[in-house]
Amino acid sequence: MKIFFTLFLALAFTFLKAQSALDEVVPIKQLIPDIGLDLRYSTVNNFTNQKLYSIDEAYLSIGAINRLKLVHDSLKQIKQYNGIDYPKGLGIKIFDGYRPRAVQYLMFEIFPNPTYVADPGSGSIHNRGGAVDVSIYDISTGNELLMPTEFDWFGPEASHSYSNLPQNIIANRTLLYNMMVDVGGFVPYDAEWWHYTIPGASSLPLLDFQMK
Ligand SMILES: [Zn+2]
Repeated sequence: MKIFFTLFLALAFTFLKAQSALDEVVPIKQLIPDIGLDLRYSTVNNFTNQKLYSIDEAYLSIGAINRLKLVHDSLKQIKQYNGIDYPKGLGIKIFDGYRPRAVQYLMFEIFPNPTYVADPGSGSIHNRGGAVDVSIYDISTGNELLMPTEFDWFGPEASHSYSNLPQNIIANRTLLYNMMVDVGGFVPYDAEWWHYTIPGASSLPLLDFQMK
């Protein structure tokens, strides 16, 4: 009996260790060196018109990065899509990942609309390292594929259900959706075509460390 109990403890410890390792928030480039970055909050080119991060590096939980790597590596294999050639394949580019909670308070002060900016009181999944804002880019040219709107477009045109768009733009949005959901196992958010979360992310701890 005692040996079973010891075995149980060992297994439980391994599981907890694995869980906490996946929750750890680290720079994405550490695990996906060739991921594309277009970190708008590290510039003034965002809805706040302020530079909110002091460094040009995106962080995310290891569990989310592992999923994102599957998506990025699968996109690299796509050399043609919807009648267009992509000789070096496609890739994921990131607008935002982990976001310190202090930044969430500032954003909500500027734009207090919880459809687009989560209430900092309960916190955003971005504050937990479990949400990522992404698009697809052409590795040969570095250009983003045409998508329905700019990042952080606060209007119905940003929704997955918005369909008054040219066919090629719907095809690009659908490719991102299918790759993130079917390959990465991410959960989409209907109001924003760029925002994806990992399952169970609301149980991750709220964080407020500054990226350095
Ligand atoms: Zn987001």
